Amino acid sequence: MARAISWHGQGARLVLEARNQSSRITSITARQVLVTVPLPILQQNRLRFDPPLPPAKQQGIAALAMGQVTKIVLRFSQAFWGELRLLTCDGPIPSFWPVESATVPTLMGYIGGPPALQLAAQGEPAALARTLEQLSSYFGPQVHAAFISGRMIDWSQDPWTLGAYTYTPLGAGNARARLAAALPPTLFFAGEATCTNGHLATVHGAIESGRRAAAELLRYASGA
Ligand SMILES: Cc1cc2nc3c(=O)[nH]c(=O)nc-3n(C[C@H](O)[C@H](O)[C@H](O)COP(=O)(O)OP(=O)(O)OC[C@H]3O[C@@H](n4cnc5c(N)ncnc54)[C@H](O)[C@@H]3O)c2cc1C
Repeated sequence: MARAISWHGQGARLVLEARNQSSRITSITARQVLVTVPLPILQQNRLRFDPPLPPAKQQGIAALAMGQVTKIVLRFSQAFWGELRLLTCDGPIPSFWPVESATVPTLMGYIGGPPALQLAAQGEPAALARTLEQLSSYFGPQVHAAFISGRMIDWSQDPWTLGAYTYTPLGAGNARARLAAALPPTLFFAGEATCTNGHLATVHGAIESGRRAAAELLRYASGA
């Protein structure tokens, strides 16, 4: 993982730390760097810049926010939900859908925003019990009878993202453009948080931003 970037007009030096081997530090040099780490990595200075990023860039980073998601995956011995494609409800977990690619009948529960953190704070056993209870209120005792196993995925605790996907708080209208702006000729920025065309928080938005940043990078690489 990248820990630090020293940058200047002629290039940059990246300090890298090997995954699971915190003592193995290496560094590489590059003429240009494309930064695509998730927003909280920048907000929490987990990737340091020397010199620090300019004030406009820092304002953009600080003004945006990372949203939270908790997922509950449940495996069952039978698909008691029939032809269900998507269940939206008023319960603690507001939506469920069958995981079509699973080899055994599997339901995915999805919850976003502050309630996602509240559910995750209960811990996996309590969150699973609560979810089964909710499903039982719709489908009856067959839920517990068919239950095999479950997992909770708390994206706020994922060290590589520290959240799910970004949103724009009130008053932060120009923050994405500030985050996206290149610092030519050396630093370029991409990732869903840099999307200014409405495709934020999506895979296609992240891909589009990568294409935009790659074009910027090549423009400066060729000196045009
Ligand atoms: C639960 C959930 C469901 C989603 N569902 C959908 C969906 O159905 N459709 C859709 O379009 N989008 C969905 N998204 C959103 C989509 O996954 C993201 O918008 C997209 O992955 C963002 O891409 P990205 O490249 O900006 O960031 P990421 O995909 O997060 O990539 C950033 C990369 O940076 C790496 N990284 C972090 N820190 C460092 C470091 N210090 N050094 C080096 N590398 C580092 C990470 O490991 C990661 O590989 C979902 C997201 C979540 C969380």
